[in-house]
This record gives sequence, C-alpha cells and structure tokens, in this order.
Amino acid sequence: MPETNAAEIPFLRASDKKMFIGGQWVDAASGKRIDTLNPATGKIIATLPEGDAEDINRAVRIARRTFEGEWARWKPYDRARLLIRIHDLVERHWDEIAALETTDMGAPLTRTRALRTWVLHSILYYATQAQNIAGQTLPNSLPGDHLTITLKKPLGVVGGIIPWNGPVIAMWWIIAPALATGCTVVLKPAEEASLSVLRITELLVEAGVPDGVVNIVTGFGSTAGAALAAHPDVDRIAFTGSTSTGRKIVEASAGNLKRLHLELGGKSPDIVFADADLERAAKGATMGTMNNSGQICFSGTRVFVERSIEQEFVERMVGVASALRIGNGMDEQSQIGPLISAKQLGTVSKYVELGLEQGATLATGGTRVGGDLAEGYYYTPTIFSGATNEMRVAREEIFGPVICVIPFDTPEEALRLANDTEYGLGGGVWSRDFNTVMQMVRGIQAGAVWVNNYGVIDPSVGFGGTKLSGYGIKGGPDHIGTFLTQTNAYIQMD
Ligand code: NAP
Ligand code: MG
Repeated sequence: MPETNAAEIPFLRASDKKMFIGGQWVDAASGKRIDTLNPATGKIIATLPEGDAEDINRAVRIARRTFEGEWARWKPYDRARLLIRIHDLVERHWDEIAALETTDMGAPLTRTRALRTWVLHSILYYATQAQNIAGQTLPNSLPGDHLTITLKKPLGVVGGIIPWNGPVIAMWWIIAPALATGCTVVLKPAEEASLSVLRITELLVEAGVPDGVVNIVTGFGSTAGAALAAHPDVDRIAFTGSTSTGRKIVEASAGNLKRLHLELGGKSPDIVFADADLERAAKGATMGTMNNSGQICFSGTRVFVERSIEQEFVERMVGVASALRIGNGMDEQSQIGPLISAKQLGTVSKYVELGLEQGATLATGGTRVGGDLAEGYYYTPTIFSGATNEMRVAREEIFGPVICVIPFDTPEEALRLANDTEYGLGGGVWSRDFNTVMQMVRGIQAGAVWVNNYGVIDPSVGFGGTKLSGYGIKGGPDHIGTFLTQTNAYIQMD
C-alpha cells in the first residue's frame, strides 16, 4: 500500500519547533513547551513553544512598529508581487505541507492534497486585489468649492486566532488580505495543529515577507489567545473557532473596540427532496459531514429527507458511509482519518450515547475503531435515523462524523425545521425542481446554500455565517475592505 512516512517529512526531523516573532525563530519567554501529537497514532511528533501574554505583547509591539515603518511604503505592485512569490513557493511545496497537515491533524492526504487548489486560488485572489484598493472622488453640495475624496488605508495590526481543523485554509483568510493591504499580523494557531502554519511561515520568509509583518505565536487559547484578543494595540481580530470562545473574544475586545470577524460553529441543514438524483444526493449528503470526519464548521449534520423516500435514502446513505475506508491519513487509500484528539473522541462517543438515550436509531457506525487503529482517535461514520430536530444530537454542534436524518412532509416544514437552530452557517438542497430550489435558497437562514452539491467554497465568492455562526464575510470582493480604514477629506478649493 503506498504510504508517505511521517519520518520523511523534512520539517519533522527537528522536533522542537520555534515560533516566529519579528523575523526571528524564538522560544517562549517562559521557556515552556507544549507537546503536539499525531492523532493517527497518539504519539508526540513535535513540541511547540508555549507562548503567553508576554510573547503576545512582544509580537504586537513589533507588528505595530513594522506597520508604521518601511512596510507602509511598499507599493501595491510590490505587495502583489510578494503574494505571487508566496503562491509559487506554496505551490512547489504543497505535497510536503499536505503531509505535515495530515500528520498533525489527521485529515487524509486525499483531502489535504486537494486543498492545494483552494489555497493557491486564494493567495492569487488577494494578490490581484492588492492593486485594486481605491478610494473615491465623491460629489458634494457644499457652499463654495470643495473637493471630497476618500482615502483607503491599511487598518493596522490584525490578530488572527484559528482552530485546528484546517489551519492551512484558515491562515490564508488572514495573512493574504493583510499582505495585500499593508497590515501586519500576529497569528495564534491552535495548539493541536500549528505545524503547517510554522512550515508555511518559513516559505513566507523565503518569499521575502519583511521581518515583523507576519508573527506567529504558538500557545494555548486561554493565555496567548486571550491576551491577543484583549490587547489594546490590536486593531482587528479575525477569529475562527467555537461560538463559546467567540463570545469570550467579543468581551475581551471591548477595551479598545476592536473590529471583529467571527467565524463560529454550525449545525447546518441539508434538505433532500424526493425528486432529487438520489444517488448523487446520498453521496453528497453523507460526505457533507463525513469529510474531515465531521470536523468542519459547515458540515451538513442535519439531513432532512422527504418522508416518502426516507427509508430508501437512509439505506443509500448507510451504503456510502459504511464503504468509506478508515485509516491513517498518510495511507493514500484512507478516506476517513482520526479525530483530532482523545478529548474529541470522548465528546463524539458521549453524543452518540445521548442520541440513543433520546430515542434515535443507529443506522450505521456508533463505535470507536479498534484493531490496528486502536491507538489513534478513530470513530466510525455514524448515521442516526428516526431523529427529531429537538434531540440534543440535532441541536448541538458535535464536530464529529455524526449525521441525524429527520423526515419532513412539505417544503414549508423542511424550511421551518432547517431554520429551527441557533446557527446559520451553511445549508444544502437536493432537488430537480427550480421553484423548490429557489424557495429553499431564499428561505434558509445561512451564509451559504449549496444546491445539488454540498460544501464547495470559492475564495472569489466569500463565506460567512449568520446567527450564532458569527458575522463577517471571508473572501469575495468585500473581504479586503475589512482590512482597511478610510479617511474622508474635505478640501476647500476656493
Ligand atoms: P475553539 O476551542 O474555539 O478554538 C479556536 C481557537 O481559539 C484556538 O486557537 C484556541 O486555542 C483559541 N482559544 C480558545 N480559548 C480562547 C480564548 N479564551 N481567547 C482567545 N482564543 C482562545 O474551537 P476548536 O474547538 O478548536 O475548533 C472547533 C470550532 O471551530 C467548531 O465550533 C467549529 O465550528 C469552529 N469552526 C468554524 C469555522 C468557520 O469558518 N465558521 C471554521 C472552522 C472551525 P487552543 O485551542 O490552542 O487552546
Ligand atoms: Mg497534532
């Protein structure tokens, strides 16, 4: 069986990693370290500096100084060129980055390799925007002769806090627009998965990102993350993570009224009508959650199925789920890797027990994987049938490979159930009928609706949630504006 060996990843040859502040690879001021594991084996693969408030303070001080220094004089053309150099280096090193990401957070190589297209597209998207940041000359009706113009300026120091479930994606939503606009960054990746971010930072250096423009502080959220969110000299926090941490970020940011971008949790609906292409829908609705073992914010974990096809559709989904090959993500045959941690495995197991207690039926899955995989944090793709939208498994984000199938009778009922959630991140519709599709697209309260597919995201289109899934759109034409501030000038000409 073809396999990429973790030991062959050059970045892992030296296992005591450093973080990156002011152009230097450094240890935490405290000297403390955190172990980081491979979830496929439970083994330690590297240690990270345990940065805390002191390291954050230093990184923010440098980021501020850099923002006001030479970096402010870089031309749009130079910033675009820098992003293009980064694009080319990331492209060249993607297989290595994918293997590192897989080893650090478990997603199969088939997935991490495929993320390449999105990442490259994203970097280039912001590169092209760097030269299109423009203010306006606006009309006015003031007495006398005034010229009124709007200047667009980079916002300042941007703090990024990202989760473990896809750091190679999440980091670009922050770093690429920051470089395109002339901001500086202090990024705190999740302590469970920081390695790909550190490797990519080496490439940023190679591409010529000036010292102090991008700073990476590894460490825990409750210390380093909290210090960044509360720091009085950070202008904006881009946060991706859970809704409960999102609330803490909002509170911590109040001191200097930071701008916030919150990408939070979800419990997204995926609605299947009887007239859909059922084979395609079954595959799409199953993979809409099983991708990355359900550890994706917009996983379509509540599958609403028109009652007339409920039984047949559950059988199809079970067919798809039970055929998925579970294994170490470094094995190119694996389709489902481990969950991120023993803690996450415990959470998923508890929710499955809860689903059974509350009366749902286990159509497939519901077990931890043993045998050769017993040391890793593997869980079988799990589908509950006979669930209701009131059950806790249908209301709370599990962040694991667990789907609830819930029947409906009318489009109106489907919509009511779909929207009966605190969250509003994604939603899916499977139907061949245009009017049904449009009724759902208009009615689903979520930032993204996928029709006859689930989960595609294009950097040029943008992505963001509503309700408890947060606010702000990443990607798309408006995102770059959130890294800018503006000055309106009234210039008397007479
Ligand atoms: P999390 O616990 O909220 O952690 C996310 C990040 O916040 C980590 O870097 C974490 O650090 C840090 N953090 C924790 N407590 C903090 C605090 N008090 N102040 C500042 N930072 C703090 O989320 P997770 O469990 O890792 O990730 C899964 C969640 O993220 C799910 O809810 C998922 O839906 C959401 N998510 C949303 C999106 C989206 O685009 N909407 C995308 C991906 C994931 P440490 O972990 O190092 O302690
Ligand atoms: Mg890890």
